[in-house]
This record gives sequence, C-alpha cells and structure tokens, in this order.
Amino acid sequence: MSTRAALPKVCIALGLPTVEKLLEQADKEVAAGERFLEFRLDYLNRPEAGIKALTVFLGKYPDVSLLVTCRRHQNHGKYNGVIDDQMKILDAAIDAGAHAIDVEIETAEKTIERLEHMRAKAHLIVSWHNYEGTPPLEPVLRRMMKVPADAYKVVTTGKKPSDASKVLALQKAHPKVPMILLAMGEAGFPTRVLCNAQGSVYTYAAPNSVEGTAPGQVSAKVLRQLYRIDKLTKNAKVYGVVADPVRHSLSPNVHNRAFQAKRLDAVYLPFLVQPTQLKDFLGMCEALPVQGFSVTIPHKQRILKYLDVVDPLARRIGAVNTVWKKAGKWRGTNTDAGAVTKPLGKRIKLNRSTVLLVGNGGAARGAAFALADAGAKVVITGRNSDRVRAFAKLCGAEAVAKDQLNGRKFDALVHATPMGMWPHTKECFFDGVLPADLVFDMVYNPLETELLKRAKAQGCAVIPGLEMFLAQAAQQFEIWTGETAPASVMEKAALEALLK
Ligand code: NAP
Repeated sequence: MSTRAALPKVCIALGLPTVEKLLEQADKEVAAGERFLEFRLDYLNRPEAGIKALTVFLGKYPDVSLLVTCRRHQNHGKYNGVIDDQMKILDAAIDAGAHAIDVEIETAEKTIERLEHMRAKAHLIVSWHNYEGTPPLEPVLRRMMKVPADAYKVVTTGKKPSDASKVLALQKAHPKVPMILLAMGEAGFPTRVLCNAQGSVYTYAAPNSVEGTAPGQVSAKVLRQLYRIDKLTKNAKVYGVVADPVRHSLSPNVHNRAFQAKRLDAVYLPFLVQPTQLKDFLGMCEALPVQGFSVTIPHKQRILKYLDVVDPLARRIGAVNTVWKKAGKWRGTNTDAGAVTKPLGKRIKLNRSTVLLVGNGGAARGAAFALADAGAKVVITGRNSDRVRAFAKLCGAEAVAKDQLNGRKFDALVHATPMGMWPHTKECFFDGVLPADLVFDMVYNPLETELLKRAKAQGCAVIPGLEMFLAQAAQQFEIWTGETAPASVMEKAALEALLK
C-alpha cells in the first residue's frame, strides 16, 4: 500500500520498450543514489506488463518513490488503449505500490470521480504539455484546477529566453498551488534549475546514462552538484552566460564552483540566446530577475545598444563581455581586455614593449585597445591584409602582412584567432620560427595548443589561454559579488571541465 509521504525533489523519468530494460535502467539510477523514479508504462511494448516491473522494483527498493505514467498517444504519450484501460493500468499500479500517478488533463477531466478515489491511495499529478511553445498559462492552470489533484504539472517548450520566466511566473502568481513547472528545450533550461527554489513540488532530471543527449537535459547529479538546486533559496541571485551556442561553455562550471566556495546563495546558468533574441532575453532578466551575465559569441557587440552605462574602454573596443545591474541600470564592461594585459604585464614592461597581435576579430580588438592603453606598441597581422590594415588604423597600430614578418622580432606575441582550437588542434598561424620569446595564445581548448607546443620547443615563455579565461572570469565574479574571486577553485573547475 502506498504512503502519502512528500515526494522527493528530483524525479528521473524512464521510458524504455521492455520490462527488462526498464528494470536494468532503474537499478542503475538507484545505484547512482536516485530516490524518485518515473516509470513511463506507455513506453513499454506491453504497458500492462509494467505492473510486474514495478512490483519487482518496489519489492527490491521499498524506500524509492515511484511515479507511474501511462499517457495516451492522443496526448503526446505512447499508449494506444482507451481511457478505461488506461485507468485500469494506473489503478493496478497504485495497488502494486506506486506512490504517485501522472494523468494528463485530457484524461483527468473525463475521470474526475474515479481519480478522486485513486487519490486516497497515491499522489495525483495532473499534467498539461505543449510541444509547440509557451502560450499564456493562466487559462491552462484555471482549466487544470477544475480537477482536484495533489499537484499540477505544466510543461511547455522553451523557444525563446522569456518562455522560461513566463513558466516560472505561474508559481510566483500562485504560491500556494502545488505545481511542477518546466519549459523543455535548451532555452527552457533555467526552469529545470530554478523551479524547486521557486516552489515547485519537484523537478525532472535526465537518467544519468543519457546525460547530455538532449539539449536542455542534465542529470540529477549535475543539477545537485553543479547547480546546487537543493541549496538555492527563493531569493537566490541568478547570473549566467549569454551565447549561441552555449552548451559547451566553461563558464557555468567555473562560476558555480566559485559561488559554492564562497557559500553564496547564487547560481550561474547557460542562457541560449539567438542573435535576434537579445531584447527578449533582457525582458527575462527583469522577470527572473537576473543580476548579471557574461556575454560571448555572437552578442558581444550587439549587447551595447541595450545597456544604460558602458565603460569608456569597452565602448572604444565596441564589445562588452560583462553586464550587471546597479541602481536599476544595466552596466557593461570588457574584462577580456584586462585579462590580456594582466598576464602579459606580469612578465614584461608593457610601456616599453612591442607586441605582435594575430587576428582582427572581437578578442583582438579588446587586446589592441588594452595594450595601447597600457603603453605598448602594437603591431597587427592576420590572414586578410585589408581587414588587418583597417583594424590597425582604427586602434593606431602598425599593420604587417604575414609574409613581411621574416626577420622581425617582438617582445611578445598574442594570438587571437581560433586556429588550433579543438577539433582543429594541428593548426597554427605560423609556419617557421616564432618572432617573439613570449607567446600568449588566447585559445584554451586544448590547454596546450600547437602554437604553445612550438613556442616551448623554441624555448619561449608561454601564457596559455586558460590564464586569460580565468582572469576575465575572476574580474566578473568580483564585479558581481563584491568579493575576492576564489582563483584556485575556479582554475580547478575549469581544468576538470576541460579534461573531462
Ligand atoms: P572572432 O571575432 O570570430 O575573430 C576571429 C579572428 O580570427 C578574425 O580575425 C579572423 O580573421 C581570424 N581567423 C579565423 N579563422 C582563421 C584562420 N583559419 N586563419 C587565420 N585567421 C583566422 O573571434 P574572437 O572572439 O576574436 O576569438 C578569437 C579566439 O580567441 C577564439 O578562439 C576564442 O575562443 C579566443 N578567446 C579566448 C578568450 C579567453 O578568455 N582565453 C577570450 C576571448 C576569445 P578574418 O577577419 O579574416 O575572418
């Protein structure tokens, strides 16, 4: 007989075609420490056979909470039977010990009385799904609440950043209504991390074995250990990185570990924001609210027009990588620039140095202005002479074609193109001897690029891109929190993520 104890906070949904595979997967999740599983009986070739699976499972693991679902295909499930048979399966699941059942609203509103009886023995979750987008949700909740239930599950599809805040706003508007709120897809990812802190009954995580196979899905382990969902309060400060693509960003690893080390009630999320969605994203920032964010490709230039205050260097560079809210105003700066001059300044006197800069993109721009401001003489080269010349003119530097570098020597070389970056790890801008004794490669994946290997072989001192990445991240942390960045924790987190 089921008990009505509260459900755990993270549920792992398992949908597999056979009882054997379902039980095998369930064993693995329990072995990984999970205590709340959903058996999607509609995914089984024979859903009726699932009752046997859950009897076996609960006999073996009486302390694991089990949610059972047998959603009809008309309602985005896979069950082909009629409602009466669907209810018989759910009834049998409760008799076998299921702690909770999930019934889609389309079935639930036709079986209100029957469900009322079932509710005496198990939690009833009434659910609503939308695979197209995130429409207005108040009418949806009104419809759902006509069916008495223990919780209402609202699942939409996140197509743009504000879909995540729209979904979470439903809980804020109805704090006393037990809900489970999620926006699927990568744009909806913030809901998976924040919904529990905002009051959701629980959140969903991917099975540990399929981690990373679908955008927006992460395992319970990552939700707990990296995003610390069990620790976040309703007032947790929200930060993140704005990018497209954003999935492989190192920043969530580095900043979440830093928040953890400093015991801050704060979380750092990956925000997938397409080039046309910046305005929508800033709307989401007001709604959540977001306190600050990192900006990367392709938004570093575009973000400027949405900011109230931009510091003079970032404005001259024309790119912002760090944004924060102060006194109601969005402020922007560029911590990439200082992250070039800081590591170089430790090794050479910039105001007496000539630095060769390779590349004419966003990162090169930041480096050129910061180096010039620090008093260095800057010489720029790259693959496209016209673009290099135009860029050099803009920042008062000298332009040199690659084939005219022979015989010249610089105090330092700063590489700011993606050459050598994973997976093109054999690429290097230079063919022969490197024209400097100090070589700084902005590329940080791999940690030791082809350029750095050649530099070391030639006896040069090197500055790896990770040093720059960590320097800009540390400055961001300090701007956002007002605290000293835990540098060694951040470095360890970055190395762990890069060497994974
Ligand atoms: P970007 O704006 O896209 O600029 C890329 C630059 O590289 C352009 O000048 C481009 O030349 C040049 N380029 C691209 N492919 C090339 C090739 N095959 N051969 C020669 N030149 C090539 O990118 P970005 O933002 O400046 O970033 C550049 C690199 O720095 C990236 O690898 C990025 O990951 C790294 N970065 C690292 C950090 C850090 O913290 N370590 C920070 C920022 C950037 P054209 O103009 O001719 O296309």
